Amino acid sequence: MATSRYRGRFAPSPTGPLHFGSLVTALASWLEAKHARGDWLVRIEDLDPLREPPEATGQILHSLECHGLFPDEPVRFQSRRHDAYQRTIDNLLAQCKAYRCRCSRKQLKDNHGYHPNRCRRGDTSPGDGPHAVRFALEEEASHWQDDLLGPQVQMVHAELDDPVILRKEGFYAYQLAVVVDDIDQGITHVVRGSDLLDMTAQQQQVFRALGAEPPHWLHIPVIVNEQGQKLSKQTHAPALDDDHPARNLFLALQALGQQPEPTLARSTVEEVLSWAEAHWQRSAIPLTSGQARGITGGTL
Ligand code: GLU
Repeated sequence: MATSRYRGRFAPSPTGPLHFGSLVTALASWLEAKHARGDWLVRIEDLDPLREPPEATGQILHSLECHGLFPDEPVRFQSRRHDAYQRTIDNLLAQCKAYRCRCSRKQLKDNHGYHPNRCRRGDTSPGDGPHAVRFALEEEASHWQDDLLGPQVQMVHAELDDPVILRKEGFYAYQLAVVVDDIDQGITHVVRGSDLLDMTAQQQQVFRALGAEPPHWLHIPVIVNEQGQKLSKQTHAPALDDDHPARNLFLALQALGQQPEPTLARSTVEEVLSWAEAHWQRSAIPLTSGQARGITGGTL
């Protein structure tokens, strides 16, 4: 494991403005970094223009500022990193750690997840028309330690689970870009929502294939709505109200199991954050998903 200075990051995909769940993640990663006297970075994972309203990035960065969460380095944008992703894909293809794939989702489903076009054996060439590129996983039971959830075991199925790293439409995929940038930015600790827990074992293999040591991971429980669904654009999570940042931070701290003094709910952003830095207790984070309370305009 990496032993260098702590470097953490918050890496939202700009599919919409920040909502309460993303504030909880941002705050947890900021507090972990500050507590370790490390650096906290912000990376906009804008890989899919079809799902990203053009105004979302500006809204996210504005919200973070309103909540006093300032990165220690200039914000990185994945939309400006295509050359690095393409170079990595070319290297993986050259080493047979990735392969071109023409299979449709339906073909894969009808064939129990195996590739009818024998893509993994290298039967698809660049001239065969539109194709994706997949990372070739090794079959293994992956054992790793989550900094909050403890020991994890995840089965990785070769071929069946092989993630797309370049989509047929020409977009670079999350499973590749997240690892390339975590390596390039020297990220030592990742704090993110537990909805990404299942991605971790596959990402470890991508780290290894690129000759890098994986970071530490800490997965925090996702915030859900009254129907038990993760707050997201798809579940119509309301945008954060940037006019009440101290109150939002207060509620986010409660969602993270911290016990801020009630008067803080009506104080300034700086006061809430400095209380949080001084009193942060990772061990108080709840292990299961929590409901978002009081963020839709209710009184405190
Ligand atoms: N961009 C991803 C998301 O917004 C998070 C990536 C990560 O933290 O690994 O869901």
